[in-house]
Amino acid sequence: MDQQSYLIKPLLDKNYPIISHGMGVYLYDVNGKKYLDGSSGAVTASIGHHVQAVIDAMTVQAGKVSFVYRSQFSSEPAEKLAEKLMKLAPGDVNWSFFVNSGTESIETAMKVAIQFWQERGQPDKNQIISRWKSYHGITIGALSLSGHADRRSRFESILEKSPIVEPPYCYRCPFNLQYPECGLSCAMDLERAILEIGAENIAAFVAEPIVGAAAGAVTPPDGYYQKVEEICKKYEILFIADEVMTGIGRTGTMFAMEHWGVTPDIICIGKGMSAGYTPIAATLVSNDIIETIMNGSKIIMSGHTYSANPQSAAVALAVLKYIEKEDLVENARVMGVYLKQLLEGLQVKYPIIGEVRGKGLLLGLEIVADHTTKYPFSQEKAVTFKLIEKAQKNGLLIYPASAGTEGIGGDAIIIAPPLSVTKKEIEELISILDITLSEIA
Ligand code: PLP
Repeated sequence: MDQQSYLIKPLLDKNYPIISHGMGVYLYDVNGKKYLDGSSGAVTASIGHHVQAVIDAMTVQAGKVSFVYRSQFSSEPAEKLAEKLMKLAPGDVNWSFFVNSGTESIETAMKVAIQFWQERGQPDKNQIISRWKSYHGITIGALSLSGHADRRSRFESILEKSPIVEPPYCYRCPFNLQYPECGLSCAMDLERAILEIGAENIAAFVAEPIVGAAAGAVTPPDGYYQKVEEICKKYEILFIADEVMTGIGRTGTMFAMEHWGVTPDIICIGKGMSAGYTPIAATLVSNDIIETIMNGSKIIMSGHTYSANPQSAAVALAVLKYIEKEDLVENARVMGVYLKQLLEGLQVKYPIIGEVRGKGLLLGLEIVADHTTKYPFSQEKAVTFKLIEKAQKNGLLIYPASAGTEGIGGDAIIIAPPLSVTKKEIEELISILDITLSEIA
C-alpha cells in the first residue's frame, strides 16, 4: 500500500497499521501481524469479527433494498428491529428512534426530553443536567453534557452547558468520603444540583451506568442508581441512561441498569447494537413519553437522512439474534468474572495498577504513579499511552480512558474483549498484558 496517505486520522502524523481482515477476537494487518482485540475496538465489536450469520443477513438485505427514506417508508427490518428492542428493553421502554451513532442517540434523547415537557405544557423544563467524568459524544449537544475536559476544552466557546453533578467515583471520591458511611453523597449531589437550578427548569438527568471513555469502567456503589431514580421521580425529572457503551450485553446483563433494578425513561444505545458491522444506534423511549407526544404534536423533531435505513436495521437485527442464539450475555457475565480475577492477579504483581473495576466484560484498570497515595500519571499521560502502544506492538488492543486533569485526576485503560471471548483467549490476553506491564513497570 502507498506510503503517502491522504486519510484524515486521529493523529495526522501517525502511521496506523492497515487491517486486512478479522476473525473472531482477532484482527490481522496487511503485513500478517495478528492482534487480539482486547477492547472490541472502542468497545464496539461485541460479537467478534467475521460472523457468518451477520454477513448473510447483510447480503440478503442488500439484494432487496438498502435505503428508503424514513418520512416516505418504513421497512420490514426496521419494524422487526424495533419490535425486538421493545422485548429486550426494561419496563415500558417500548419505542425505538433509530439514528447512526451514539452521539446522535444522545442528541435525540435531549430533544425528546425537552419536547415531552413542552407538550405537557411545561416549556420551562428545558435544561438537561449531567455529571463530570462522563462522555456522551462529540457533537455539540452531547459534548455539552460530557464531563470530559480534554474533549471539551477547544470548543468551550460553542458549548451551551457544563456538567454540574459529581460522579460516583469511589476510588477518588470527590467528597473524600468512604462508602457506605458517605450516605451516597454522589447521588445526593444530584439533589443539590436540582435544588440549585430548580426542578421546574430541568427536563432530564443523563448518566452512563458505568463510566467509559472518561474514567475507565468506573462503577457506582450499590444503591447509587436506586437513589438517582428516587430523586428523579421526586422532582419529576426524566432519567436518561446513556447505555451506548454498556448496553446490549456488555456488562453481563442486556442493559447495565438491570444490575440495579432501575428503569430509565429513555435509554441510548449504539456500539454493541450492531457490534461494528454497520453504523446504527437508537434512542429507546417509554410509553408515557410517546403517548404525550402522540396526543400532542405527533412528531419528534430529530432524525437524520440515514435514520432507520433497512440495511443497517437488518444487520443490527442479525447481531441481536446472534447474541441470543449464542447466549453471549451470559458468556459476558461468566467470562467477565474470570477476566477480572486474572486482572486482580496482575494488580498484585504491578503496583501501577491502582484499581481493577467494572462489570461483565467492561473492565478498567486505573493506572497510578503511587499505589498508596493514588497519585496519577495523568499530567503527562505518558504511561497509559505507552502501555497501549506497547500492548499493540505485542499484539493486544486495549483502550485509553481519561478525561484530563480537571477536578479529580485519574487515568485508566479499558479491557473489553468481544462478548464471545473464550477462557483460552482471556488467558492469552492476560499473558500479553503481563509481558507489556513488565516492560513498563
Ligand atoms: N455515549 C457513550 C457512553 C460512549 O461511550 C460514546 C462513545 O464512546 C458515545 C456516547 C458516543 O458514541 P459515538 O462515538 O458512536 O457517537
